[in-house]
Amino acid sequence: MSENVLVARSLTKRYGGVTVVDQVDLTLPKGEIYGLVGRNGAGKTTIIRMVCAQTLPSGGEIELFGVTGEGELQKARSRTGAMVEIPSFYPYLTARENLEYYRRQRGIAGRDVVEDALQQVGLANTGRKKFKTFSLGMKQRLGLALALMDRPELLLLDEPINGLDPEGIVEFRNLLLELNRQYHTTILISSHILSELQNLATRYGFLDKGKMLEEVSAVTLAEKCRDCLELKVDDAPRAAALLERQLGYRDFEVVAGGAIWLYEGLGEPEKVTRLLIEQGVSLAGMEHRGANLEDYFLNLIGGVRHG
Ligand code: ATP
Repeated sequence: MSENVLVARSLTKRYGGVTVVDQVDLTLPKGEIYGLVGRNGAGKTTIIRMVCAQTLPSGGEIELFGVTGEGELQKARSRTGAMVEIPSFYPYLTARENLEYYRRQRGIAGRDVVEDALQQVGLANTGRKKFKTFSLGMKQRLGLALALMDRPELLLLDEPINGLDPEGIVEFRNLLLELNRQYHTTILISSHILSELQNLATRYGFLDKGKMLEEVSAVTLAEKCRDCLELKVDDAPRAAALLERQLGYRDFEVVAGGAIWLYEGLGEPEKVTRLLIEQGVSLAGMEHRGANLEDYFLNLIGGVRHG
């Protein structure tokens, strides 16, 4: 059985009377990269803050490295590193000087942790360059270096890719992949743009309005985003029943907006057209599509999934 680094059970946060994280279950196995995906305000930051003890849960439980309960959790948190926002760095100090300042402030022994962290994020050769002249990508990398100074086994990153240009996104993604492969760092990374996490996350959690809608492995997600025929019909449940009964199709799903995504019989669409017309189901459109990840997410938050 795989070991879980982080488990949240019915994790809940209320501010005043408003529930912003609503009974969230989340499981992050060791060595995985977990993409926490949700629109702005979905509750991603609040979940990460609760894991880091920056804010207290209103209900539910957090398990870190197999332990629960505040006393044990506090110790377990020393095995994590977090970047919830870009930390405040001194504009007139270099990357090395900024990290050295934080190393002393946190009482971390050994100057080599600074050098190692700079190496890991590719900022070891920035010399006398001051923080204020850094690009956003470099600033994000320095924030990551700070989170890495404690040599964490679990890295929690809140929207670290936000605002980076496409090249910066690729660089940052590669950096995380390397950390994961080379140091076996388990990572939880949030984003409101699912495609940013593509080719990175091995597992996804889809969050909307504080609720965890679905947790899915990257392999399963890719499988769900296969090519399909999209059928726009006036009566999707009836059309679905006909596809199953008359044509023996089972591999389809009814999605938001009264459409059906059909994964089989792609080479013989006329069979479907004929059947639906004969049975009086109105077919407003039929399109061959490769569902991309973004579509999948939009469909998930937009409506009820079947199948
Ligand atoms: P974003 O990407 O915009 O940060 P998010 O998914 O990280 O989105 P959160 O920052 O966790 O979302 O916020 C979830 C909800 O909780 C939002 O409606 C936000 O306004 C609310 N919220 C967050 N912190 C507080 C607070 N300290 N007091 C009251 N409400 C808060």
